[in-house]
Amino acid sequence: MSHDPNCIFCKIIVGEIPSFKLYEDNEIFAFMDINPFQPGHCLVIPKQHFADIYAISDVAIGAAAAVAARLARAVRSVVEPDGLNIIQANGPAAGQSVFHFHFHIFPRAAGDDASLNWGLVPGDMAAIEALAGSIRTALEKED
Ligand code: 5GP
Ligand code: ZN
Repeated sequence: MSHDPNCIFCKIIVGEIPSFKLYEDNEIFAFMDINPFQPGHCLVIPKQHFADIYAISDVAIGAAAAVAARLARAVRSVVEPDGLNIIQANGPAAGQSVFHFHFHIFPRAAGDDASLNWGLVPGDMAAIEALAGSIRTALEKED
C-alpha cells in the first residue's frame, strides 16, 4: 500500500501524528477534523495514498463512500445538524489543502452560510474529543 512520507494524512494513518480516530478497517481510516466548520465535522480517507479524485482507484473510492454514508448517519444521530454535506475537493482552487483524497462529513446549521472554501479555524480539542467518543459509539450501532 503506497504511503507518501511527506503527507500529513499518511502520518495520521500510521499514528505518527495523533488524531481522534472514529473508524479503521483494511482500506479506510476516519477521524475528526481539528478545524471543524461545525461540530461533528470529520474526514474519511483511503489508507493508500491517492492525491485526489483523478488518482483514486474504484475500489478505494467505493470503500470510502460506504464508510462516509455510515459515518454521516452516526454524525447525524449525535449532533442532529440541520443538514449535512459530503464535500470532496480537488486542487487548491477548489479548496483542497491536503493532497491525500478525503471526503468531508460536513454538518450544517441553517444560515451558516458555508462557502466551498470555508477557511480553517482551530477547534476546541476537548469538545472534538468528546464528540469523537459519541460518534464512535453511534457508528458501532450502524454495524
Ligand atoms: P481540504 O482543504 O484539503 O479539503 O481539507 C483538509 C482538511 O484537513 C481541513 O478541513 C483541515 O482542517 C484538516 N486537517 C489538516 N491538518 C489536519 C491534522 O493534522 N489533523 C486533522 N485531524 N485534520 C487536519
Ligand atoms: Zn497520504
